[in-house]
Amino acid sequence: MTSVLHVDLDQLARNIAVVRDRVAPAALMLVVKDDAYGHGVSEVVRRTVAEGVGWIGAFDVATALQVRRAVGDGPRIFVWMIVGESAIRTALDADLDLGVGDADLLEEVADTARARGIRARIHLKIDTGLHRNGIRPEEWTDAVARVVMLAREGVVELAGVWSHIAEASDEEDDLSRAAFEHAVAAVTDAGFDRPLRHLAASAASSARAEFRYDLVRVGAFCYGIRPAGGPADAELGIAPIGSWEAAVLSVDGDRVRIDVGALDGLVSALTGRVEVTTPAGPRALLAVDEVSAVVAGWDGVRAGDVVRIYGTDAASPTDLAETIGTIGEEIALRVSPLVERRYR
Ligand SMILES: *Cc1c(COP(=O)(O)O)cnc(C)c1O
Repeated sequence: MTSVLHVDLDQLARNIAVVRDRVAPAALMLVVKDDAYGHGVSEVVRRTVAEGVGWIGAFDVATALQVRRAVGDGPRIFVWMIVGESAIRTALDADLDLGVGDADLLEEVADTARARGIRARIHLKIDTGLHRNGIRPEEWTDAVARVVMLAREGVVELAGVWSHIAEASDEEDDLSRAAFEHAVAAVTDAGFDRPLRHLAASAASSARAEFRYDLVRVGAFCYGIRPAGGPADAELGIAPIGSWEAAVLSVDGDRVRIDVGALDGLVSALTGRVEVTTPAGPRALLAVDEVSAVVAGWDGVRAGDVVRIYGTDAASPTDLAETIGTIGEEIALRVSPLVERRYR
């Protein structure tokens, strides 16, 4: 394999510092779903925790366990995809913070905690319009009342109230925020003082102070992935932490074949639309097949020469994505797990 994703952990630290600075006094939760957006969860969270970040957002329980193994007992780890009794048991044993977005899951979590003689830390999720799980506003009062009972019984602790927003338009986000405020008020009225409130991801946490509350859940910006069609890296103060390089496999006239690692790592729609960075400067991407790609040649090209598909001193994942009307995550997440990750 001669394709490598270089991951610059110092750049991760710089992006994290910029995000934390911007959102303070709200705290940062680094979101590491999809193997830390393709960069490799263990190394990413070790560095993140070394930088003093106290929260990791792990999506599912399996990822959370990977995080726990990598960073030990200190940091809080939040999961919000919890399916089945065994996942709940595992999550409680690993001392995770559980995102709970429906009444049935609340009961299952309480049952499991009761059976184990422990108290589950939960963050109750209100559906503020995305309809991607979350308790509906009309069911919120009942759910909160139920949490009051379970908290009295000692099987549940309400650690937080949260939701997820589209971040596609300010108007829509404002409506979501109003619904969120309403839900938080109901929780406070029920006697819970100061549960952690978290609503925003990268875009809203950066652009809109009133969305930050106590905690922001940020993935993209910490990895240096800016939003398509949005502000430039320099304006955001971030830069990509991943640089994807591919070695030249063979040369056929002025067509140079490079190794992109494994099945479908490079989005074939980029063909003819972008340039990659070669030792002789930018060259057109001429073709993409399953495990290799073809770029326009240059003088003196040899097998083993290295081409940078994206990253430092090259196009960013979002630059590539914009040429085909998608988002940078779509490019970064496609790099095959079989491509070696190399850290510095
Ligand atoms: C992915 C995700 C985030 C982070 O989103 P970014 O735009 O990458 O910062 C935050 N919260 C939830 C629930 C998510 O699924």
